[in-house]
Amino acid sequence: MLNENITKEDQSELILVNIVEELVKQTVNEVISKMDMCSCEICRLNACAIALNKLEPHYVTTTRGKLLAKIITEKMNYHTEVLVEVTKALMSVKENPLH
Ligand SMILES: [Zn+2]
Repeated sequence: MLNENITKEDQSELILVNIVEELVKQTVNEVISKMDMCSCEICRLNACAIALNKLEPHYVTTTRGKLLAKIITEKMNYHTEVLVEVTKALMSVKENPLH
């Protein structure tokens, strides 16, 4: 999901990222495969939106090259609350899919 086609220059480019958003996207992809539900793009993005509206954003500045390392470090701080909201969001999408 995270920028497959990055060039060398992009690696050092400074970016503003909501770490919680990145964690929610990752967690949705992990959890959806373990649930007995539709895993199409509509359902995944819908679950991301529901979970993100419940969670406080946490913005950081980093570079593209360091983004993955940053996500791994920050994951420990947010994993539990992100997992709770993502699970709730997926249950509600499962009950009322937007398609
Ligand atoms: Zn679906």
